[in-house]
Amino acid sequence: MKKVAILGATGSIGNQTLDVIRQDIDRFRLIAISANSSYGKVIEIINEFNPLYVVLTEEKAYEEVKKYCSSANKKIEILFGMEGLNTIASLSEIDIVVTSVVGMIGLVPTITAIKSGKDIALANKETLVTGGEIVISEAKKHNVKILPVDSEHGAIFQCLQGNEISSVDKILLTASGGPFRGKKEEDLRNVTVDEALKHPKWNMGKKISIDSATLMNKGLEVIEAHWLFDMDYDDIEVVVHPQSIIHSMIEYKDGSIIAQLGSTDMRLPIQYALNYPKRQKAVVEKLDFYKMECLTFEKPDMNTFKPLKLAYEAGKIGGTMPAVLNAANECAVDLFLNKKIKFLQLGNILEKCMDKFIVKYSYTLEDILELDKEVKKYVNENFGK
Ligand code: NDP
Ligand code: MG
Repeated sequence: MKKVAILGATGSIGNQTLDVIRQDIDRFRLIAISANSSYGKVIEIINEFNPLYVVLTEEKAYEEVKKYCSSANKKIEILFGMEGLNTIASLSEIDIVVTSVVGMIGLVPTITAIKSGKDIALANKETLVTGGEIVISEAKKHNVKILPVDSEHGAIFQCLQGNEISSVDKILLTASGGPFRGKKEEDLRNVTVDEALKHPKWNMGKKISIDSATLMNKGLEVIEAHWLFDMDYDDIEVVVHPQSIIHSMIEYKDGSIIAQLGSTDMRLPIQYALNYPKRQKAVVEKLDFYKMECLTFEKPDMNTFKPLKLAYEAGKIGGTMPAVLNAANECAVDLFLNKKIKFLQLGNILEKCMDKFIVKYSYTLEDILELDKEVKKYVNENFGK
């Protein structure tokens, strides 16, 4: 049995990971979970899966879960905060850690898990965007597999099986185009939070939904692909494919293109990452070619959707610049969700931060964590009033 910890078990990816486990309960044992504040969902998970460890990162939720477990006589170790996340990421009884928290908060526990020799099923792209160099070098050092959960990267990973990375010409990273595909700057000036949250193809957490509306999500994914597959930015091309049936492709040097297709359901890449290199019985609906819409492809509009262009720039600059971009974005998305800034300001704030913060090429994990705080403070002070 594979023993699993899920960091961020109450979110969209966490919930779908639980469903993959639920449907294959003889193959997996859920040992540990974490959540921030959703204690109600945590209690449901406790009752269904009986994990041995639970981490909460918000005080009230921690107290509530403790109260519940003592009244229900549950023998569970309940831990708090980053220390708790690091504890469950490194438990000797765990084989694989699913990192599905949102934001760069996932960076430290992911590195802890890697240093403890755990394979990682990685959904949390901000981890690679901010600390890609450190994460990848630690993974090599500790002989740990980073199994991508993000659907595009899961697709690329599948398209690479049996082939050598040196025979790849480029990655074709598909994008749905988000809820505002085809819109121009003047159409986007007054879009509301609700409109931005309405993704046409995927039902996801709020932060990634906003990132999909600005195309920042694709920008983060370009940087994620650079680290996961060791590809130059010039060899990673974004292709808008609104039907989201092809989840990404690899073009090999002989001109062959290998694509991965499947329903728009995150449980498929999650299942593959959890079972790699094996495949198990489908937990998602299979594609029916005769019912499928036609598949179309477009170039992304990087002038309107500036964050994608900025992500390429930040990636190419390298060093700490992607961490600056990510911190600015996390903070700006929060401000947008709280109706403190307008949609188009999201891109402008990223640009301002990339101008303001000087890139460093020699840095530690602590430098990245410090920089993240500094950038967020700057964004809050200058745009959050
Ligand atoms: P959600 O917002 O749905 O879930 C986030 C999870 O992280 C929840 O369990 C949440 O707990 C927890 N969390 C939130 N804030 C903190 C914090 N400060 N400290 C610790 N834990 C916290 O996000 P998604 O599931 O949509 O996304 C998770 C990650 O996966 C992101 O990096 C995203 O980019 C990536 N991803 C998501 C996809 C999707 O389809 N959703 C697709 C591909 C990648 P609580 O519920 O208590 O708030
Ligand atoms: Mg994706």
